[in-house]
Amino acid sequence: MTPSPLPTQLLINRLQSSGVRLADPAAGADSRRGGAGPSDHKAITIDGMTVMVPVHTHASSDSPYFAEQPDELGRSRISRDGVEVAKMSFPRRPRFYDLSTEDGIPYSKIAVLHGRDVLATTVLQSCVRYASRTKTCQFCAIGESLAAGRTIERKTPAQLAEVARAAVDLDGVKHMVMTTGTPPGRDRGASILIESAVAVKAAVDLPIQAQCEPPDSDVWFARMKQAGVDALGMHLEAVTPEVRARIMPGKAQVSLQRYFAAFEAAVPVFGRGQVSSYILAGLGDSSAAILQTCEKLVAIGVYPFVVPFVPISGTPLQHHPAPSADFMHEILAPLAALVVRAGLRATDIKAGCGKCGACSALATYERGIAA
Ligand code: SF4
Repeated sequence: MTPSPLPTQLLINRLQSSGVRLADPAAGADSRRGGAGPSDHKAITIDGMTVMVPVHTHASSDSPYFAEQPDELGRSRISRDGVEVAKMSFPRRPRFYDLSTEDGIPYSKIAVLHGRDVLATTVLQSCVRYASRTKTCQFCAIGESLAAGRTIERKTPAQLAEVARAAVDLDGVKHMVMTTGTPPGRDRGASILIESAVAVKAAVDLPIQAQCEPPDSDVWFARMKQAGVDALGMHLEAVTPEVRARIMPGKAQVSLQRYFAAFEAAVPVFGRGQVSSYILAGLGDSSAAILQTCEKLVAIGVYPFVVPFVPISGTPLQHHPAPSADFMHEILAPLAALVVRAGLRATDIKAGCGKCGACSALATYERGIAA
């Protein structure tokens, strides 16, 4: 008897938890290795949803899921024990990756394609919290891609503008994510995000999400908005004081109270649903604690983007298990109902991770809920 197919959102949870083995590691767009935030991923498209699945983690080499050799159009299938579980495709390698700046820097070292149509950059590839292992966010690999020569430390506004224009013209990217390591100043990176946004907006009409820690003063939110930032991400990552202190001892010095005050101040500037927070499930916070925090966020108009933690090679958490698919379902099913009820759907976000949605099955759950 052929097993009935899993609903797409449950399959995505499983693939993001177990990872996928690849018949052809070079298929599709280049995978993400290192960098800020989740990594060691590759983009695949299943049932119209483009998601990032781990392909370089320790767990993925033992995954029961296997992506077969794609055809010349990137079409493939995922199988388990030789039985097809889903048709899939790999997004094609972006054309802008073939270009370099006049001074010889490949565009792919300045910004990369995420998901299907997102241009992503880490404006400053170093972080005040990364210098010391006692302060480092344990899941982060911001220094790894720099050390491996896959990126440059500081992307200038002019470089970002040049690459953004090419990515729109050649590959039709639809929005841009600008994140940054946290510099030493009290603005926590807001000013470099502002100069970058001004330059990109002058070159091309591309919605931008900026991501940073809450700056010292709320005045930065209006300045970012005026500079052309359409949406803002301030990422809690972990939600309880114990897990924050253990997993991100440096960043935990910025209190939850400050995060929530910053959310309250940012929502009127950017609009309901245009401020978001990335939350990593699987680091020790219970599903109840995560959902409780999400309820607080939604109540003030912040989109809680909950994603499964991915253990990245080369980080202190590389052997930490990824959350199970059941744990993700326990969070994402009620969370999707919560955000839809509140009118904060991923599809209404102008730019950024919540809109892209590729690191989580949340948007796929939302898709299944009528408005
Ligand atoms: S959700 Fe964010 S980090 Fe993940 S692929 Fe999309 S833009 Fe990149």
